[in-house]
Amino acid sequence: MQFQSTRDSALRVSSSEAIVRGLAPKSGLFVPESFPKADLENWKSLPYPALAEQVLKGFLTDYSADFLHSATAATYGEAFGGKAGETVKVSDGVYALELWHGPTCAFKDYALQLMPKLLVEAKKNLGRTETTRILVATSGDTGKAALAGYADLDGIEIEVFYPNAGTSEIQHLQMATQKGDNVQVYAVEGNFDDAQTGVKRVFADESVAAELEARHIRLSSANSINWGRVLPQIVYYISAYCDLVRDGKLTMGDKVNFCVPTGNFGDILAGYYAKQMGLPVGKLICASNKNNVLTDFIKTGTYDARRTFYKTTSPSMDILISSNLERLLLHTSGSAEKVEGWMQELAATGKYTVDAETLAKIQASFAAGYADDAAGAAEIRARFERDGYLCDTHTAVAFHVAEANRSDAPMVVLSTASPFKFPRDVLAALGETAPESDFAAMAALTAKTGAAAPASLRELDKLPVRFNTVIEPAEIRAAALR
Ligand SMILES: *Cc1c(COP(=O)(O)O)cnc(C)c1O
Repeated sequence: MQFQSTRDSALRVSSSEAIVRGLAPKSGLFVPESFPKADLENWKSLPYPALAEQVLKGFLTDYSADFLHSATAATYGEAFGGKAGETVKVSDGVYALELWHGPTCAFKDYALQLMPKLLVEAKKNLGRTETTRILVATSGDTGKAALAGYADLDGIEIEVFYPNAGTSEIQHLQMATQKGDNVQVYAVEGNFDDAQTGVKRVFADESVAAELEARHIRLSSANSINWGRVLPQIVYYISAYCDLVRDGKLTMGDKVNFCVPTGNFGDILAGYYAKQMGLPVGKLICASNKNNVLTDFIKTGTYDARRTFYKTTSPSMDILISSNLERLLLHTSGSAEKVEGWMQELAATGKYTVDAETLAKIQASFAAGYADDAAGAAEIRARFERDGYLCDTHTAVAFHVAEANRSDAPMVVLSTASPFKFPRDVLAALGETAPESDFAAMAALTAKTGAAAPASLRELDKLPVRFNTVIEPAEIRAAALR
């Protein structure tokens, strides 16, 4: 399997190369040039690690079978407490795919517990000996998941940039207390887009690459612009489908809808890839918060980022420049030239409009909607009081949008974070007065609901804070050259 760039139809690289490089030249993103078929009949009763091995095998054709077997077994067993891909019933025909049973309590662990192993192996496959310096822009959850995945790995350094005051107290402490000799964490003045744009600029800066190369260091990315981030997420769509078949909720071949709380479009894109592999998916429903640039795009074909940026109670979705949409544009338009044109227009004017044919293809697979903070809070309360199901602020956005898009097909809502990662907002949504501190709120949430807070979150305030540097976006370059 070869990988091509969203902005250059001539370029072809191996999967190892795509994972090591992270970003293609001219800021393009790597995408698979074709999709292996999902063998659902043979996959339907596999445990999660074995299913992951099968899915990866189809794309990572230059990795050894032994490596893929041991890496998936090591990643998706213990670390997820036996709950990888856990799908639970919420109400009739509505299920939650709970993706927060990993070490950092958000779905990003699925990719970031595996990707470090893929990167180290890719370097071996390519015979490369340089140090890899990973730069991560994060709205909150990616940073911790990446730090946890890459800490103390040989030949790897990691630097994380998050928006100062843009994360919850828990998210901030998860990053600021990270252990490891090869990790560095910076708060950046501004919002997530400022941090992400600053990091992308460093990746595109040839003088940075040249200076680091002289020191035998190469930059790479752990953001979902790296193909190695998107790939592991395909697995849980297939796993959820197979679980519903196994439990008699579904007959093999029947369609399922997935509703995905979306920011950078990585998670929902993995669902599209599962569909391209032959998974019977009806609609992929893109759920946004008040930063609803994707809702408008999917409904109209015009992507217009020139709008107010809102800080919401679902901070990991507070994004106006949704990077992975570029990949979908290539698959649906089939033209790297068109994609490059739209992306240049976006950079220059803040907006672009796709052609009618491309929009029709997007609308054949996707629906969209959004929920503001009040609608999300009402959803948290309704799901808890009516269904006995406790969800976080991001998942609540998806539950709200799922309701407006119900059909006869079962609906699987991707539950992307533990409610204990955002305890104050969840508690307030349940009608309680939230205490100032996240830690007091966690205890109050347990008292109110009977649900136990994950130990890794409860004990955070006992760990020493290692990082408290605040920088301007313009200083990201210097930090990257450290
Ligand atoms: C990152 C994140 C999202 C958004 O996922 P994308 O892949 O960026 O669309 C949703 N919910 C939570 C909890 C997240 O951490």
